Amino acid sequence: MRIDILTLFPDMCNSVMSESIIGRARKAEKVEINCIDIRDFTLDKHRRVDDKPYGGGMGMIMAPQPIYDCYMSLADENGNLPHLIYLTPQGKTLTQNRVKELSKMEHIALLCGHYEGIDERVIEELQPEEISVGDYVLTGGELPALIVADSVSRMLPGVLSDDECFEEESHFNSLLEYPQYTHPATWNGRDVPEVLLSGHHANVEKWRREKSIERTYKRRPDMLENANLTKEDKAILSKLEKD
Ligand code: SAM
Repeated sequence: MRIDILTLFPDMCNSVMSESIIGRARKAEKVEINCIDIRDFTLDKHRRVDDKPYGGGMGMIMAPQPIYDCYMSLADENGNLPHLIYLTPQGKTLTQNRVKELSKMEHIALLCGHYEGIDERVIEELQPEEISVGDYVLTGGELPALIVADSVSRMLPGVLSDDECFEEESHFNSLLEYPQYTHPATWNGRDVPEVLLSGHHANVEKWRREKSIERTYKRRPDMLENANLTKEDKAILSKLEKD
């Protein structure tokens, strides 16, 4: 899969995407991530990419031309363009389900706004999918784009090792993950639950499933509506509801 990040701060994005699991995945060519400088596409002789808002008001607005030309430069030899996503607090909030869907695409482009945002006409012209990372406002779309690139990349085959599997993680099946522990078995007077030391695989699985349902019920009951629950799971849930 290829992910292009369209930004005024390519070094910031490249540096984050060069570390740890994603950095290794890029080196191993499990994912191609390019951080492209929108400024390289400006036709302004002073290399400007923004200007004051018409109608007055605070801050600067990113001009449409450099963004449009930057995106158009991504066309392949047949003129095909990648699926474009504009990161904006006005978009749909990102979910694990959307991440899963995006990870099946061959090529996506992530457009980062900055300052007070981007000229509306380029949004009308390119009709991007609009994604938000939450109901708060950041200074730029770089951190949200990195969130999308990270969450999508880690779902690609070969990016996570077997012991870093994502299928039991929070949100994957509309459930939160069970609590996790590592060595030592006792820390600060707190013991790891006995069942996890037992080596009894079936009991460990049962305990984890129960904890996963309990956590979701207590912290995010809204998620249970979409969870795929077995008869046993429903029994755990009705016991929790009675308690
Ligand atoms: N004036 C804009 C508004 O009120 O909708 C906010 C602009 S914000 C200061 C600058 C840029 O940061 C946006 O163009 C967007 O790319 C990015 N951004 C800020 N918060 C975001 C969020 N919650 N999710 C996704 N992108 C965000």
